Amino acid sequence: MTIKKIWIAEGCISCNLCEDLCPDVFHVPAGGTSEVRDVWKKCAASQEDQIREAAESCPVEVIKVED
Ligand code: SF4
Repeated sequence: MTIKKIWIAEGCISCNLCEDLCPDVFHVPAGGTSEVRDVWKKCAASQEDQIREAAESCPVEVIKVED
């Protein structure tokens, strides 16, 4: 697992795509913007591909991943 940090920058449009792709890591609350779940580190090793896919697929490119 090479991901050290995940965060959401300003500008999320609440499209829900990240939660659809990786619900263990991303949560988009009703009426709010995307959040990274506190448990993400436990999931990151097994779901690294989904996390990266979410970051690459986000339409406004606000999912940030630090290796
Ligand atoms: S994919 Fe991007 S814009 Fe859509 S909910 Fe997730 S962070 Fe927000």
